[in-house]
Amino acid sequence: MPQTCIICQNPDSLLKYVIDSFEIVQCTRCKLIYLKNPVSVDKDTETYDHYFEESTVLEYRCDSASPAMRTLWAINEQRLDWIDRLQGVTSILDTGSGRGHFMAHAASRGYRVQGIEISPIAALYSEKTYGLKPYVLNLDHSAWHIEDTFDLITMWHVLEHLSDPITVLKKLGNCLKPHGRLIVEVPNINSIKFRLARPQQKWVGGNHPRHHRFFFSHHSLKNMLLKSGFHEPVFVKDAYCIPDYSHVTNLLKRCCRRLHRDAFLTLIVRR
Ligand SMILES: [Zn+2]
Repeated sequence: MPQTCIICQNPDSLLKYVIDSFEIVQCTRCKLIYLKNPVSVDKDTETYDHYFEESTVLEYRCDSASPAMRTLWAINEQRLDWIDRLQGVTSILDTGSGRGHFMAHAASRGYRVQGIEISPIAALYSEKTYGLKPYVLNLDHSAWHIEDTFDLITMWHVLEHLSDPITVLKKLGNCLKPHGRLIVEVPNINSIKFRLARPQQKWVGGNHPRHHRFFFSHHSLKNMLLKSGFHEPVFVKDAYCIPDYSHVTNLLKRCCRRLHRDAFLTLIVRR
């Protein structure tokens, strides 16, 4: 069944890329870039369980032996610095909480935290390792309901995975206290990283359309949040400061910083 643009309902789109038979198109009216033929949402739990089963479990610490975990730790530290600067936040609902690293990091700074996670395997890790038990559910399934309300909802690289993000965002709005806030972070389709990958029609690991259904720019991310009933959009301007690794040259470090500077879009909105 041909999809229409979920922001402006325009049925017309232009084909931009074909990756492994996935068709990525752009709405001719509002310019949203989306997947025309996504995998069914009923396969999502299996997909993400498989992802967590296959990926190696590494210790999440600032001095972890794994550069990937040191980087994630440093990124979460900066995310929590931003949150510390927001007024009146004491409780956080982390969507796509995965193995629970962000929740645990936030809890260590005194926040009351709750997670939502699609993968039972990741949720079990979070419970066993950190004593933090997320709600296990697929945000794209209509049946879920959460009684509790929070000052802040975080969506770190979740929105682009959803099938019906506007419906999900509207439902999540009900989990916020009056004047509560939402932070959304997604990969930036106009970043240097994406532009480098495009000529080869080859998309870096996690951006594969088997997982990502939407590909955001500043404009389309803001549009989607406004369309979902949120207000006062403010983009976070600080780029993540990635920790230094002694085994890479200074030149490479400088290149990496440049490459990472605009890789993500981080937007804060109010209910
Ligand atoms: Zn559109």
